[in-house]
Amino acid sequence: MSRITSFQQTGEQTQAVHAGENPDPVTNASSPNIVMSTTYVVDADTTFSVEGLEENDQWIYTRWGNPTVHQLEEKLAVLEEAETAIAFASGMGAITALFFHLLKAGDHAVVSDVAYAALSEMTNELIPNLHVEITKVDTSDLEAVQAALKPHTKLIYVETPCNPILRLTDIAAIATIAHGTGAKLAVDSTFATPAATKPLSLGADFVIHSLTKYLGGHGDALGGVILGKKADLTPLRKKTAIRLGGSLSPFNAWLIMRGIATFPIRMRVHQENALKVAAWLEQHPKVKRVIYPGLPSHPQHELAKRQMKNFSGILTFQVEDGQAVARRLAEKLQIIHYAVSLGHHRSLIFYLHTEDLLQTTFKFATPAQLSSWSAFAGDGIFRLSVGLEDAADLIIDLQQALED
Ligand SMILES: *Cc1c(COP(=O)(O)O)cnc(C)c1O
Repeated sequence: MSRITSFQQTGEQTQAVHAGENPDPVTNASSPNIVMSTTYVVDADTTFSVEGLEENDQWIYTRWGNPTVHQLEEKLAVLEEAETAIAFASGMGAITALFFHLLKAGDHAVVSDVAYAALSEMTNELIPNLHVEITKVDTSDLEAVQAALKPHTKLIYVETPCNPILRLTDIAAIATIAHGTGAKLAVDSTFATPAATKPLSLGADFVIHSLTKYLGGHGDALGGVILGKKADLTPLRKKTAIRLGGSLSPFNAWLIMRGIATFPIRMRVHQENALKVAAWLEQHPKVKRVIYPGLPSHPQHELAKRQMKNFSGILTFQVEDGQAVARRLAEKLQIIHYAVSLGHHRSLIFYLHTEDLLQTTFKFATPAQLSSWSAFAGDGIFRLSVGLEDAADLIIDLQQALED
């Protein structure tokens, strides 16, 4: 039987189910095998250095490449409409490999002033210690991004919607700015997912996802990925992905692939549920403010409509005395888990206290940066990752837990 092997032309649901996978040639097994072997029997001419590695070489060592991980990489490349993909043990593993690949001592990078906590903290201290200069900028402010550029700027790094405040960045506009100065643009699209936004088609050079979130989708496997052009990713694979060692376990690759099969269907329900919960929270007397890209009240709703085909499943809300309400929710919620992380089939909620975050994670350089944060987050936000339960049950759960 001859089969479609590329799936570039099919719909997203077909891609999510089939891309990258094929019946096993030895057993005809319909589901992918997990190849756990760390090493492979090779011929005597095999290279011992990764420098000699060619595309489509035989399998040599699983940190260099693995058949199960490769299937996942192919599936992700098709979903993101990318030439190629490299999978990592976590989202942070992917981000670290990207920074070490693109930046050397004396270079400069412009980084979102609000972004995933570990990335923010890594670029506050670790990366500057390597004599790479970092400027933190509110990337929703195009003039601020332009003004931050220097002759040696090599990378602009943005996250949209950004974690945790759901502020958006105009990818196409930032791509024009980056390329005007010869810098690369990397977009962490974990919150948007390929169901919403295809940053490469808007001009980004690299897309990053934490696969731990929506793509894996079930809260049981850490993973990360970088997607982009072969010309950029082939050297990245050799130079940092393989050598820094953040390789994805084949078992996790298999779990994430299984999760991706239902990814487009899940994203529709995440969005539907999030819209219902957001609308309900917006009229709750104890809720001061709800932020969700799909609500007309989001300050950048027009950009959201232009840049996101799906508004995803994460919302934030503010209440009076958030810390006390957080304690009550942690104790009283029966369905929603009070926990970090997001993008799982289970709903997850967590309180982020502005004062705490300003001491640990976000170092704002200007009053404008702090006021942009405050416009979205006030003195603290609940970040709610709306899961795949029935929206009515989530609302009942929030209702009873918000009562005094
Ligand atoms: C979770 C997350 C990461 C880090 O991913 P890990 O898999 O936990 O390393 C990076 N960026 C965003 C936006 C995230 O939400």
